[in-house]
Amino acid sequence: MIPRVIATIDLAAIQHNLAQVRRYAPQSRVMAAIKAQAYGHGAVPVARALESTGVDAFAVACLEEAIQLRQAHIKTPIVLLEGILSAEEAVLAADEQFQIAVHDHWQLSLLEALPESAEVSIWFKLDSGMHRLGFPLNETASLVEILKRRPRWRFMGWMTHLACADELNNPATQQQIEKFNAALKGLPGARSIANSAGILAWPETHGDWVRPGLMIYGASPLPDRSAADLGLRAAMTLESRLIAIREYDAGEGIGYGQTYRCPERMSIGVVAVGYADGVPRILPNGTPVLVNDTLVPMAGRVSMDMITIDLRTVPNAKIGDTVRLWGEGLPAEVIAAHAGTLAYELFCGLTQRVQFVYKHF
Ligand SMILES: *Cc1c(COP(=O)(O)O)cnc(C)c1O
Repeated sequence: MIPRVIATIDLAAIQHNLAQVRRYAPQSRVMAAIKAQAYGHGAVPVARALESTGVDAFAVACLEEAIQLRQAHIKTPIVLLEGILSAEEAVLAADEQFQIAVHDHWQLSLLEALPESAEVSIWFKLDSGMHRLGFPLNETASLVEILKRRPRWRFMGWMTHLACADELNNPATQQQIEKFNAALKGLPGARSIANSAGILAWPETHGDWVRPGLMIYGASPLPDRSAADLGLRAAMTLESRLIAIREYDAGEGIGYGQTYRCPERMSIGVVAVGYADGVPRILPNGTPVLVNDTLVPMAGRVSMDMITIDLRTVPNAKIGDTVRLWGEGLPAEVIAAHAGTLAYELFCGLTQRVQFVYKHF
């Protein structure tokens, strides 16, 4: 049986993109962000592919994600970006030797309540301007004092997160870098600032550790630079197939709300993929899809299980032909822009109904 909707994940592309991270930030160690099922690509296969090429650490959002990797025998150090959420999690995280990003005093208290002998590895997360998580910058000296009281803790370093690194002319990034560096002047510990946009556009953020996510999956975080320009290869290709081809007269309306009107007698294709698979319903008429190497526009609303497309430029299209929603030859960033969102959200939005196939394992 041929699966209806297939997400093909090219693990060689993921390894290539990791090599590109190292090329952009040759002095830094790499903590690859594989939270949220590796941005929808599948945490375990992605972790294995990265581990086999050599990556210094993995970053996940939460304990459950870290445990899933350990259960799959991933040996690389794992960082919990949101830290621990309860006393129970503090115990588990210490037992499993996960590195805990501590962003607040209440988390510190949970760790301080552990037995002296607990092997705790921590990062301190600082708020340099994102204003989401992190200790205020004026607390760094007192955090160092807390570390002195806990000589058995393993201190990994300091991290902060950039709010606007994808906006090349926004002064906020430079301000964040300067404030972070100033707050840490003379203090021990590694520094980590850069997400993908930082790695690509702000060399001064590279520091001791970089934390690439999106670029590992081969998408560009920068609005004016394509992934190909940046030397990245798309890892995910989402495809389905043509299940109907029909001719309609000029003036006929297509699909729910009849939002597309045929301008002439024309051929409309029906593709077996919809918003229940993760293709955003908000995608408008004109959004491109790839049919036999030709870009053609969507014609009519995305429905739950199907989309309809304008086949006028591919007269040889036939039932069963593959239709690509995004991936090689049609960047997810382009489709995301049509939906008013980002490739991040498209990747994370694929549903259980999509069949995953791993290439170059
Ligand atoms: C997700 C995440 C990253 C990776 O961000 P990208 O924009 O995908 O490169 C880096 N740091 C933190 C704290 C994150 O949560």
